[in-house]
Amino acid sequence: MADNRIAYGLAKEYGIDTTGMSPKEVWDALKENGISPNVAENKPDGESKSEIQARRKRIGEALLARNKRLEREIFGDSPNQTPYVKLSNSAWGKAKIQEESVGVDKMMTYYTDKKSKWSGKTVIDDKRCKKNDSSGLKAWNCNIIVPKFVETCTLIHEHLHARSVSYYNKKLYHSCGKTEEGAVELFAQEISKDMGLTFTPGYTKLTGMLRYIQRVTDLCGDIFSFAQEFYEIDMPERYGWLVQKVEEFVNNDTQLTKNKRTRLLNVTYAFNGPVTGEYVNEKS
Ligand SMILES: [Zn+2]
Repeated sequence: MADNRIAYGLAKEYGIDTTGMSPKEVWDALKENGISPNVAENKPDGESKSEIQARRKRIGEALLARNKRLEREIFGDSPNQTPYVKLSNSAWGKAKIQEESVGVDKMMTYYTDKKSKWSGKTVIDDKRCKKNDSSGLKAWNCNIIVPKFVETCTLIHEHLHARSVSYYNKKLYHSCGKTEEGAVELFAQEISKDMGLTFTPGYTKLTGMLRYIQRVTDLCGDIFSFAQEFYEIDMPERYGWLVQKVEEFVNNDTQLTKNKRTRLLNVTYAFNGPVTGEYVNEKS
């Protein structure tokens, strides 16, 4: 049996109340929620793709179970209760959003190898988000700024930025804007789906274009893998990677009609450069 302290730590992380429980009972409660001691450990080397997928599924299920429990805490067992949509409402308050942000940061270690530059601070600032017309922000000092009505997907989006654009500067972000926002939002959406969370999609034009590219080229087998692989590439290299992959595809696929080929290449080349007005919606 792994160290019992791990069990209590894990239970806390997943919001399982351990009051009065013996270590064995805590392990059983974790097991019931699909959480095993291995889940707590760092990703082992040489793990196969199916093992990674299975682990991801366990984590997602555990988180979903926890969200459902929190939802019951807030809304009670009302039959009219809406499906889990918002992480927070005014009943949550600052402390819970901040706690959730810490949880999301931990979750991201299961989805990406990139290390976070997050300051550890989550600031709730409605005014600043409104001024930027944004559902969330990652500031250059690496604080995450969100409004008091925030979705988990937005926290995921900002935490993914903290592991990507945060290694660079404003100027480089500007020149890679579309690939950064596209990669981050697409992966945030796919992670949210993987975790069973409902969300309001952001950057729908950019994510739609990436979904189209994966659908036509089947570069990575499925959209989750595509989102993950595209995000894992360092920000400055993403555009070049995408162009190279798509050009290789069109050069090898002799069945492709001229129209489809032109459209696919145009959609790909459109990822060059900053996010301009036509691509902006509610997230940044
Ligand atoms: Zn963003």
